[in-house]
Amino acid sequence: MPSATGKKKKRVNVRTPEVMERVQAEVADHYQSSIVEKVRERGGVLTIGNTTIRLAKQFGFCYGVERAIDLAYASRRVFPKNRIFLIGEIIHNPEVNRQLEKMEIVSLPWQAMNEQYDDLGEDDVVIVPAFGAPVSFMDKVESQGCMTVDTTCGDVMKVWKRVRGFAKESITSIIHGKADHEETRATASRAAGEDGKGSYLIVLTLEDIDYVCDYIANGGDKNEFLTKFAGATSEGFDPDIHLTQIGVANQTTMLKSETEEIQRRVRVAIEKRDGNAENFSVFDTICGATQERQDALFEMLKSSMDALLVVGGYNSSNTTHLVEIGEKELPTFFIRSADCLQSLEEIVHFDIHQKEEVSGGTDVFGKEGEIVVGITAGASCPSNLIEDTIIKVFGLRGVDVDQIRAA
Ligand code: SF4
Repeated sequence: MPSATGKKKKRVNVRTPEVMERVQAEVADHYQSSIVEKVRERGGVLTIGNTTIRLAKQFGFCYGVERAIDLAYASRRVFPKNRIFLIGEIIHNPEVNRQLEKMEIVSLPWQAMNEQYDDLGEDDVVIVPAFGAPVSFMDKVESQGCMTVDTTCGDVMKVWKRVRGFAKESITSIIHGKADHEETRATASRAAGEDGKGSYLIVLTLEDIDYVCDYIANGGDKNEFLTKFAGATSEGFDPDIHLTQIGVANQTTMLKSETEEIQRRVRVAIEKRDGNAENFSVFDTICGATQERQDALFEMLKSSMDALLVVGGYNSSNTTHLVEIGEKELPTFFIRSADCLQSLEEIVHFDIHQKEEVSGGTDVFGKEGEIVVGITAGASCPSNLIEDTIIKVFGLRGVDVDQIRAA
């Protein structure tokens, strides 16, 4: 089908059976773990001596991430000599991104296009990450005539379909997500509709939505509104006009309970203003994999544990929400890899409130007698990083890797 630029889309299919057979063996070799499989087979619990590791029932790579990684690896096999680029990161995990760099897959900036995009040509391959990319980026890549390998997750595309539908009916999309997250930026560009006239507003917190709801129900200071949401609205957004008919959607990896609360508050505000909810539409777009990982953690938290380790990239949204859930119940440490467990007392971890890596002391791991450590990970974390974490925790408690393998 011709694109808006008049050029034919050059989407390439790299998923041939021969390629995928090789790729899957390579991916398994890089990211799978026999120790994690062993713990899973035992119902997620492994006790050696006075240390117990408990794994959540669902954690780590989701189907969308597995597919994106497979396609990136396959691209290099199918195009061994071509330049291959990636818009931003394939997923939010430093280990996976390092592997792709080794394969000479070069990351392009995702916040704004630069001269590297002008330099792309017909022999170049451009991989679109699992989060998708804004329409303007897709148009640019097509206009340069590049071959595109699109790994956008189907669950993300479902959200796009919904917000495009809102735009067609002149409904403003309120998107619950992070304005500077790749997926939300890609979704917002679709909420602008095919003619670019659709409107959207991105909200992140309950405090944000309370402010918006107050405006919906009672009106307010337009300039203050626009300053507060600078960078989080469609061009020309006018809260006096564009908060009339509202459809709520969300980034696929948000905390479900928070998204539901946002939907509820918007509905209440519209009912207060209009006397009914006719101007309110909703579509729950939390993806199944995110939901399963959140539910599995809630389930695991019913068991008694001394600490929780959440493993993953610090910029991973779904991983951050697992940390939020955990820290309400017990000492929780967001670590990017096993190296963060520096000693029994010292853990380097990401503080999601200060938004920085900190080094914190704890007496949990050095406790005399029995301890139980829970481990989970977001959808972008490979099993080999979980394995390293299991080995490190046991190692700090005096159990070596041979004992783990023999257990
Ligand atoms: S977290 Fe959900 S939306 Fe994101 S890649 Fe995985 S399955 Fe797709």
